[in-house]
Amino acid sequence: MQYKRILLKLSGEALMGDNQYGIDPKRLAEYAQEIKAAVETGLEIAIVIGGGNIFRGVSGAAQGMDRVQGDYMGMLATCINGMALQSAIEATGVKTRLLTAIKMEEIAEPFIKRRAVRHLEKGRVVIFGAGTGNPYFTTDTASVLRAIEIQADVILKGTRVDGIYTADPEKDSTATKFDTISYRDVLDKGLKVMDSTAFTLSEENSLPILVFDMNTKGNLQKLITGEKIGTIVTD
Ligand code: UDP
Repeated sequence: MQYKRILLKLSGEALMGDNQYGIDPKRLAEYAQEIKAAVETGLEIAIVIGGGNIFRGVSGAAQGMDRVQGDYMGMLATCINGMALQSAIEATGVKTRLLTAIKMEEIAEPFIKRRAVRHLEKGRVVIFGAGTGNPYFTTDTASVLRAIEIQADVILKGTRVDGIYTADPEKDSTATKFDTISYRDVLDKGLKVMDSTAFTLSEENSLPILVFDMNTKGNLQKLITGEKIGTIVTD
């Protein structure tokens, strides 16, 4: 197997399915099945989930809300998504733990690195909620941070597109896909993979980022077994 421990980053928007807001139970169940199949191969899986399907601090601030207040609302949104994902994964028979960066002990364990690693070693899927626990950050940054902390082999960033392109493939039909690309080339070409804080943290720690299409059934399985899909960003 190519990887032993991975961190899967799912955006909140991915959970909307075809809706404009919130959580689509069908999409959630599909993701849960993909994750179950991956766990059954013996892979250790940690997940960071975004909150953009419910609330983003910057959007709140644009309408006059205090940014910090909005960011905490965004972090709570990631916990709602984390709880939904936890239920969906457990419905498939896979054990999970939700660990949050903001304490809410009735519903989740506080994030403690050693505990997270122990859960993974026991074959539990670990879901990290509340991002980094700090305003002005994103769940992309949280995913890089947690991946480094738990010594994941790679971040698998599940998106709507199947990799990194020379231009936005949804707008430019001549855009071509990279199979591999260096951190330096991503910056030099001005490509958007993650926000700059997340990307820099990843580069500084030589953590590979693999961008792939999570909405095509079986893709997660393909990646784990070493099939070359998506785009990988490395040194
Ligand atoms: N957020 C934050 N600190 C973090 C992670 C997230 O303040 O460490 C807030 C921020 O307001 C962000 C929202 O939570 O907009 C939802 O996260 P994000 O936008 O990263 O979700 P995604 O785009 O992946 O759905």
